[in-house]
Amino acid sequence: MPPHFSKSRRSFLQGVTVAAAMSAMTFVPREAAATSNAKAQAGRAGQAPPFPQAPLMQQPFALLPTGSIKATGWLRRQLEIQANGLGGHLDEFWPIVGPESGWLGGKGESWEDGPYFLDGLVPLAWQLDSAPLKAKAMRFIDWTLDHPWRNGMFGPRSNDDWWPRMVMLKVLTQYHELTGDARVMPLMTRYFHYQLQALPARPLSDWGRMRWQDELVSVLWLYQRTQDAKLLQLVQLLKQQGYDWQAMFARFPFTEKTDAEALRKKAGNSDAFMQDLGLQVHGVNNAQALKASPVWSVVSGSGSDREAIQHQLHMLDTYHGLPNGMFSADEHLAGRSPSQGTELCTVVETMFSLQVALAITGDAALGDRLERIAFNALPAALSDDMWSHQYNQQPNQVECSLHSRPWTTDGPESNLFGLEPNFRCCTANFHQGWPKFANSVWMATADQGLAAMSYSPCTVTTVVRDVPVVVEQTSDYPFRQSVNITVTPQQALRFPLRLRMPGWSKDTRISVNGESVTAAQGFTTIERTWAPGDTIEVTFGADVAFERGFNGALSFSRGALVYALPIKENWLLWRKRGLTNDWQIYPGSRWNLGMHADTPITVSEHPIGDKPFAGATPAVQLAVQGQYVPDWKATDGSADPIPAKAEPASDEAAQSITLTPYAGAKLRIAAFPSLS
Ligand SMILES: [Zn+2]
Repeated sequence: MPPHFSKSRRSFLQGVTVAAAMSAMTFVPREAAATSNAKAQAGRAGQAPPFPQAPLMQQPFALLPTGSIKATGWLRRQLEIQANGLGGHLDEFWPIVGPESGWLGGKGESWEDGPYFLDGLVPLAWQLDSAPLKAKAMRFIDWTLDHPWRNGMFGPRSNDDWWPRMVMLKVLTQYHELTGDARVMPLMTRYFHYQLQALPARPLSDWGRMRWQDELVSVLWLYQRTQDAKLLQLVQLLKQQGYDWQAMFARFPFTEKTDAEALRKKAGNSDAFMQDLGLQVHGVNNAQALKASPVWSVVSGSGSDREAIQHQLHMLDTYHGLPNGMFSADEHLAGRSPSQGTELCTVVETMFSLQVALAITGDAALGDRLERIAFNALPAALSDDMWSHQYNQQPNQVECSLHSRPWTTDGPESNLFGLEPNFRCCTANFHQGWPKFANSVWMATADQGLAAMSYSPCTVTTVVRDVPVVVEQTSDYPFRQSVNITVTPQQALRFPLRLRMPGWSKDTRISVNGESVTAAQGFTTIERTWAPGDTIEVTFGADVAFERGFNGALSFSRGALVYALPIKENWLLWRKRGLTNDWQIYPGSRWNLGMHADTPITVSEHPIGDKPFAGATPAVQLAVQGQYVPDWKATDGSADPIPAKAEPASDEAAQSITLTPYAGAKLRIAAFPSLS
């Protein structure tokens, strides 16, 4: 790009940023924003996505190009809350992604945080068509695209680690889908060619070695657009140098809580071995690794590679599974006690892995898992206004304080709500959660149709068999169980439309223009000639489900929502952090209740609040009965392990109690001792 052009655009964007700060989140129409990017061509948003071609293996679904799905209803409100919270303002007061960022050419942080922040900011900005947010993102994008190294490397000169570039590649692929910016593919091509000749002498190590599969996603993305044969050499080299997750899970050695002591024991006296084991048992690494085998299967063509995610999930569930759909990882895998924590990065990276794996495997159950995490674990770790977050969330979380916790290796700040409790990674990385989820609600099918993967409200604009199609999905799902879908092809068009059938739904009722359709397992396929305005009504049958966990503990879910006993919360300001604060939360009510599996249950529905997951306005409640278990106490702010044999108080009768959606209860019990 000619230097004068770059300069003039940059000063224009600076003007936009100043204006943005003054008018605080005024959303400017798309046309106005589009002029800020003179180099942009049309993006792929609203087009059909490419599917892998030989020699790659076909896959049943593909994510639609970023920007094809616009959130509506409560999902749109959730994205607006993010934009009005840390998501849209972090760079204004957090120097890590501020003007001195290495990803802006400054002398500041030059590793993963800039790319992490952008991985959520880019899809968020375009989801909301927000000119101020686009301008914020463009400063980083422009610097990155306009300052490649002479040898093909890109990014800050002060840091040559392969890992943060893997994140930035994810950003650039989304950005290209949104804008078609002509600078993206040449930069990626030069970088991959450079890496192909540089990797033998400077191989993947540390995080990059454990997370190679995330780069694979971007290399395959480019290959599908350029058919550059060198990229197929690069994927082989990445696989060869990358960590073999499938082999590790075949012998899965981490069947218990793995704290520093356990690691040392496993490693003997070898520091190097201990460090390597630490990477293998690391929560975020395991979250990202869930996509390793499915993504590799696209290259290898092996069905067993494609299915290997099932065994990975089975091992994680069996030894570390928690009621919120996640596995415990309070830095390292931590066993099944609901007083252990899960890092927010692990939550959002698991979600992204599941989105990728769902497209490649076509396994509807991965969609169930994705929804359980998106509607429970994700919002639980964020304050209702998204101005603060936790590093670790506990399913049974009876206090968020500076008490030392039973984490494997994390510090005492880990479950505070704040700006950067424990460590700053989640502060930058959590932003990808909601925008990427919104982008995965519908997908394209390999037989040139469309598929509903989740039932959150949205509008899909795409092309099917060369005909423009708009799909409007109206619902209050997961808070309600009925969904209305309107299909509007530009002209009558025959194509298959698939509906993911959640595994929990009993007697799902489906009708097309009032005529009923039989629901199948996994996916229900409706192949017909769709006329503009055709409607699909879906009603799921969501019973309350009991699940057994650690020491026979009982957890409750209904549909995609997990329920918890909310504990009265006393929020205590610990310290001010620029535009936000760090908070402790202390309990103001008793929580040590046990439950009978046959407790009577009443479901009640309430209006969905402006903040959909806020604890003050629960959209659904369950009335149940429990009894206090006096011997079940807390130590240092964490509930003691669930007693295997819980004895109810002899002098107190059963209590009527109300359970609310898990995410809104920042202090809660989600796993109850089972009363004998
Ligand atoms: Zn993190």
